[in-house]
Formats: sequence, structure tokens, C-alpha cells
Amino acid sequence: MGNKTDWEKLVRRMEILMRLKSFPVAFKLLQDKKELKQIPFMRRPPHKMTMCQMITLVRNFDWTIGADLNDFLTAMCPSIIGLTDLPEMFTDGTFRSIVWVKTKKEGKKYEASLQRVPTGKYKALVMAPLVYKPFEPDIVLIYANPAQIMLLINALQFEDYEAMHFSCVGESSCSDAIARCYLTGKPAMTIPCYGERRYGHAQDEDLVMALPAGYMEKALAGLESLYRRGIRYPISFAGAEGDLSAAFPGSYGQMDQLEKLKGTDNRLLLGLTGGIASGKTTVANMLKELGAPIVDFDVISRQVVEPGEKAWQQIVDFFGKQVLQKDQQLDRKKLSDIVFSDLEKKKKLESFIHPQIEIEFVRQVNEIAAADPNAIIQVVIPLLIEINMQYMFHKLLLVYIPQEELTERLAIRDSIKKEQAATILSNQLPIEEKKGYADYIVNNQGSLEETKKQVTELWETLKKTQQEMIAARKK
Ligand code: ATP
Repeated sequence: MGNKTDWEKLVRRMEILMRLKSFPVAFKLLQDKKELKQIPFMRRPPHKMTMCQMITLVRNFDWTIGADLNDFLTAMCPSIIGLTDLPEMFTDGTFRSIVWVKTKKEGKKYEASLQRVPTGKYKALVMAPLVYKPFEPDIVLIYANPAQIMLLINALQFEDYEAMHFSCVGESSCSDAIARCYLTGKPAMTIPCYGERRYGHAQDEDLVMALPAGYMEKALAGLESLYRRGIRYPISFAGAEGDLSAAFPGSYGQMDQLEKLKGTDNRLLLGLTGGIASGKTTVANMLKELGAPIVDFDVISRQVVEPGEKAWQQIVDFFGKQVLQKDQQLDRKKLSDIVFSDLEKKKKLESFIHPQIEIEFVRQVNEIAAADPNAIIQVVIPLLIEINMQYMFHKLLLVYIPQEELTERLAIRDSIKKEQAATILSNQLPIEEKKGYADYIVNNQGSLEETKKQVTELWETLKKTQQEMIAARKK
């Protein structure tokens, strides 16, 4: 019963990201009761119990607990996990009609609607806090409030999006999570039932998600990715009465700006991005030779803080002359030291620079398009995806080299250690994640000739795309 996954590391990270109040539960069905003896720290129920009682002893008391059919108080719980068939008193509807439904007929319908693991295969159940790496579980149960479960759903959808459908039979809804998860091999969420609240101590706000164990890494990867994009728990409120334009991602609120940028002519705006030293300038220059003018954010960001420019003046007024060199140019090192440890000052600095960059960016694009309404304009922005500007372009090009090689290239180019290069790159979205945003990818791993060949092909594609865009607009 060895462990393949480092559950402790995974669970600890998940607990932090979701701020869980109880332990994720490792849940396993055993084909042979004798296997129970091999589980470390195993306790058998001190008396007959319900399954939800056992669950709470695991997730809140941090017990490891194993049970076979004889340990359950009624046939209902073990019938859900395939340890027994139900007696007739249940299947004919009598049991449900005592409390939960009006007639025996409805009770029969109710019982038949419950999902159950088929009987015959399993003989025992074992549960333990997953963080203790007790055994390789079949599924994992996570109890959390609706906001946390929402985030977990978002995380699971991050790759291979799928809408989540969940069910709730009412009483005995552990079948909706546990049995459905076993039967479908997919995550299953439900609302813990009355019994689980009374006997299993599920809190008023608790929901439960059962995940096949293999989904846990996917869930964590999704949580990590969303965290990097600012999606976190607890969720910070934006202010119901406030102006949300600053809290929304730009793509939600700046449609008028977008129209100005995309224009009414035939221009095609190509956003070009990639990691530091991936070859963005190299590729941009190749495309330029073929006919695509460049707007370069690095150049613009230097232009707007030249002495006498509006942003320069605002920076000097706010930070004082201490941030100037003798020749009146900004002392970038000093400025970055000041804002490095002070997020508010960093925001202030950005509030001076970013609007000016945007004005100059739109001006340059419009100037190029005025001279050539059919221009294919490339806009080079190193952190395009990190700052959520992807919505501003018709198409997005990623200059790609794998993260490992990117680190090596940066270390060599800037004569720094590989660890330093890795730290610098860790401030950017991993290159593999950027791939998902790109319409086109130029792989710059090989020789310059190989890159040139791809760029030439890309240029033909871009021209064709532009023609299709024009044709679609005329329809
Ligand atoms: P930065 O992020 O610093 O602006 P960049 O992404 O624009 O960098 P480049 O300046 O184009 O990257 O390239 C970085 C270095 O790697 C340059 O010295 C360039 O000549 C070299 N280079 C680019 N592509 C290749 C390649 N395919 N083979 C070998 N060297 C390359």
C-alpha cells in the first residue's frame, strides 16, 4: 500500500490556497477485509456507526478508521458503497415513507434514484486524513463552504474545461458525492444531507466534493494558476456601490478604447510576446523585414519617462529629486529599490507611467494605420499576458523556447547564475501556460535559419488571415 504521490506536500499547499477547515479525507474501498490490518494507526469503530459519523472522525478528529459491514448501524450506508444489498423494507419504499416522502410509492422512487457502488466487489472501507499519506486512496473527500468549492470547480476547469453538473437526492446525499465519483470516475459535488449534519457534524455552510485521487494534482495546479491570476480565497470584495472599472480586468471595461485601437480600416494587430531573452526582438525584426512595422512597449516605456515628459514630471513631483541622475534622467536603480519593498509606491509609479504608455501606444498604432490602412502591425510586449492585454489584439504570437532553455539563455546573455535567471523568470507566467493564449507560436529553440523559415510561413498566414477578416467584415 505504498504511496506514489507526495500527498503531504500536495494537501498542505491545497489547505493554504483554499483555507480548508477540515482534513481532506483519503477514502478507499477494499476487496479483502484483511487489508485493514496493514493500514497504520487504524482504529475500528468502538460501536456501530453511520458512514458520516466515520467521516467526521477522520476529517475533524484526524482518526484513521476502517470498517466492514458489521460496523455500520443500518444497511443504508454500506449499501451506498457496495458492501451490501438493501433489505426489502428499503427497496419497497417503506423506509423513506416513514419520514422523507408522503407515500410508499414515492419512497420506492426515492430509493431507486440513489447511486450505489455495485455489490460483490468490495468488503471493507478505510478512511484517513490524506495529509498523513496513509495509503493510496480511490477518492478524496473535501468539505468546504460554497465559495471554496466554487474555486475548486474553477481550478478543475482550468485545463480541459467542462461544465460541472451535480445532483442531490436529498437525504443520503453522500451517494451523490461518493457513489457518483466511483461510478463516473469524475469529481462529484453535493450538499451534505440532514443526517450528515445531525450525525456527521457537517456545518451549515458545508458542501462536499469527492474527487478521484488522480484529480488532486490537477485541482492543485488549477488553484496555483488561478492564484497567479489573482483569483484567491478569501475573495476580496470590490465594493457594491463603487466604480468597478478599476477592479475589473481591462477586457471587461475598456471597449471604447479597444475600438479606437482596432480602428475601422483593415489593420491587423498582432500582439507579440515571449519570455525574457526568448527571441522576441529577433522574431519581430524578421517580421519587420517582411513588411510588419513594430510598436515596441520597451521603447515606449523609456520614451514616456524622458526628462520633461508628463510621467517624468509626475514621478519627480511624487518621489522627489532623489530619483534623478545628474543628467536629469531617472535613476532606474534607485526608483526600483524604492518600489521593490513598497507595493503602494509601486502602484503609484505605475499609475504615472501606464496611462502615458497607453496613449503613446494608441498614437503609434493609429499613425502607422493612417499611412497604410492595410498594415499588419506587430506590438511587442514582454509581459503582455501577465498584464492581461491579450484582448487588445486580433491575433497573438508567442516566441517560444522551453522554460529550462529560457533560463539557460538568460543566464548566459546577462552573465548571471542559473538560479538568478530562474528567479527573474519566476515573476513571469510559465512559458507553457502562455502557449494556451497564442494563436501562433514560433519555436525559437533551433537555429536562426529555422526560426526565419517559420516566420516566413507565419507572414503568409497573417496576410491570409487579414484577407479573411476583411471578407468577413464585408458580409
Ligand atoms: P529581451 O526579453 O531581453 O527583450 P528578447 O526576447 O527580445 O530579449 P532577443 O534580444 O531577440 O530576445 O534575443 C536574445 C539573444 O538571443 C540575442 O542575443 C539574440 O541574438 C539571441 N538569439 C535569438 N534567437 C536565437 C536563436 N534562434 N539562436 C541563437 N541565438 C539567438
